[in-house]
Amino acid sequence: MSRFLSFRQDARRIAEADSVAVIGLGRFGTSLALELMASGTEVLGIDADEDLVQSLNGQLTQVVRADSTRIDVLEQLAIGEFDRVVVAIGSDITASILTASLLLTMRVPVIWAKAVDERHGAVLEQLGVHRVIYPEKDMGRRVAHLVRGAAADYLEIDRGYAVVKTVAPAHLQGITLTDGAVRSTYGVTIAAYRAMNGDWRNAEATTVLGDGDVILVVGPTREVEKFAQLR
Ligand code: ATP
Repeated sequence: MSRFLSFRQDARRIAEADSVAVIGLGRFGTSLALELMASGTEVLGIDADEDLVQSLNGQLTQVVRADSTRIDVLEQLAIGEFDRVVVAIGSDITASILTASLLLTMRVPVIWAKAVDERHGAVLEQLGVHRVIYPEKDMGRRVAHLVRGAAADYLEIDRGYAVVKTVAPAHLQGITLTDGAVRSTYGVTIAAYRAMNGDWRNAEATTVLGDGDVILVVGPTREVEKFAQLR
C-alpha cells in the first residue's frame, strides 16, 4: 500500500468524525491543532516541513508532510471530505492563496484562513474563503485594551461590543444586582460571577456579589472598559 493511500484511509476516517484539517503547522497552526485535540476534536495536520511533522507525530490524530498547493496531494489526502479546513499558512502568501483556492474548488464546506495583513485578507475574501482571521492584528488590539484598562481579560465580540473579566467593585458588594442598578447606571450587564475558589455561575437579578468575586461584564466596549476601572 502506498504511503499516501494509507494516509488517505486514515484521513477519510478522521473526516467522518468531529474533525478539522489544519494546513500549515507554524506557531499558530500548531497551537490551534493542539487546542482542538485537547477539546476532543480529531485533527489532520499537514505541513511541508518534515521536522515539524515529526515533532507533532503522536500529538495530532494524523500528521502528514505534504505540499498543500498541489491538487493531487489534497485529493489523495481526502481533504474534500472534511467539513472544516483551516489554512494556517501566513508568510508564504502565494502558498496560502493557492491552497485556499484549491479547497474552494474541492467544495470544502467551511474554510478558515489566516491572513498576515489586509491585502492578503482581501484576496482570501474575494476568493470566497468563509472566515478570514487576523491573529496578530486581533491579538494586538486585545492586548492594547488589556494594557490600557484594568480588566483581567478582554474579548471584543464585534466592533464596539465586548466582554471583560474583572473584580466586583466594592460598592456593588453585599447588595443584589438589581439594587446596584448596574444596567441603568453603567449601561453594562454582569453576565456571570465566580466567588473565590468557587465555580462560575450565571448572574441573576438577585445575585449578591462578595469581596474578591470575579465577574464577566458584557456591553459596549467603552462602557465595559469604564466599568472595569471601578474598584
Ligand atoms: P506562524 O506565525 O504561525 O509561525 P507564519 O505566519 O510564519 O506562521 P508560515 O511560516 O508561512 O507562516 O507558514 C506556517 C507553516 O506553513 C510552516 O510550518 C510551513 O512549513 C507551512 N507551509 C508553507 N507552505 C506550505 C505548503 N505549500 N504546504 C504545506 N505547508 C506549508
